[in-house]
Amino acid sequence: MKATKIHKIEITPTQIKLHEPFVISKGALTHARNTVVKIYNSDGIYGVGECCPYRSIHGETQTGTIAFAKDLAEALIGADPREIHKHVALMDRMIVGNASVKCAFDMALYDLVAKMDGLPLYAFLKGDRDKIIYTDNTVSLLDKEKMVEKAIIFKEMGFPVLKIKLGERGYTRDVERMEAIRSAVGEDLPLRIDANQGWNYLDAKRALYSMKDLNLEHCEEPIMAGNTVDQARLTADSFIPIMADESVFSHKDAYKVLSQHAAHLINIKLGKSGGICNSMKIAAIAQAADVYCQTGSFSESRLGITALVHFDMAWDHILYHDLDSPLMLSEDPVIGGMTYHKDWQVTVDDTPGHGADFDPAFLKRFETLEIK
Ligand SMILES: [Mg+2]
Repeated sequence: MKATKIHKIEITPTQIKLHEPFVISKGALTHARNTVVKIYNSDGIYGVGECCPYRSIHGETQTGTIAFAKDLAEALIGADPREIHKHVALMDRMIVGNASVKCAFDMALYDLVAKMDGLPLYAFLKGDRDKIIYTDNTVSLLDKEKMVEKAIIFKEMGFPVLKIKLGERGYTRDVERMEAIRSAVGEDLPLRIDANQGWNYLDAKRALYSMKDLNLEHCEEPIMAGNTVDQARLTADSFIPIMADESVFSHKDAYKVLSQHAAHLINIKLGKSGGICNSMKIAAIAQAADVYCQTGSFSESRLGITALVHFDMAWDHILYHDLDSPLMLSEDPVIGGMTYHKDWQVTVDDTPGHGADFDPAFLKRFETLEIK
């Protein structure tokens, strides 16, 4: 095998305005302030990764990711890009947490090495090219009337499933929201909910019981992440399946949550685990426990979500797909990559790597840091 080394790494902070603020129980987001990492090998081939540090979820900011990215880049220069597991372990040793910035590096490495092998990323990950994936679309946490209006618009746009943001303390207004949405969209449209840790145990217990006849697929993160004792009590009692999201960043979290029966399902996001390598471990732990998963996102562009779709294709127990973040952005700066079809099926093609790249004109708008 021809020897090659990591020759150069470019780090670019980007900014894209959202069509409208994205509101969850933890607050509103108006712009995707993402960080792009490009890793070049000594033959001039490069891979691209992206992360979306979400301060109320990761505790990371764009400024922080840039500072750490510089350190990570300096540590990786001169290394063999193929040794991805070693590089991921090095990043995990160098910096605790900070999954978001590590994800951008991991994604760029997978893109680069799959390109070097001439394989689309799903094939590099031994995935199934025929797996059929549809995305949901997400309704922000707003007044009931506005949420109903959005849900109807998304139904008319043909989305096969909607995800509804909830998590207001006191829970009763959340139940009213869901009753109104279910009545407006009819009985047949699948709905899933996400409280983003907004309820406490009692709120969650009452909310889930009150909504048990609304035919909901599952509820993400009803109460505070890390409270495994109450999560296990809720999981045991709830008619609506509980999905761990903020509770499962790493594969270690996945082991803890599943071994303590603190969720029925896991939401896997590359930006929580530090990228594809560690997300593969989470998927494997869930598979060992015979637990279904979802793929989810922060506010990545179509590039980050393209990598996620390739990952999704490698696992047949990932049944749910929340791949809507690019739809919330006011511009699409990505060339190639995934396609959204009219019925909201999502596909990728056979371009080597993940197949997506940023338009150079877009990246030129921002200041790029270069490490050699
Ligand atoms: Mg969630």
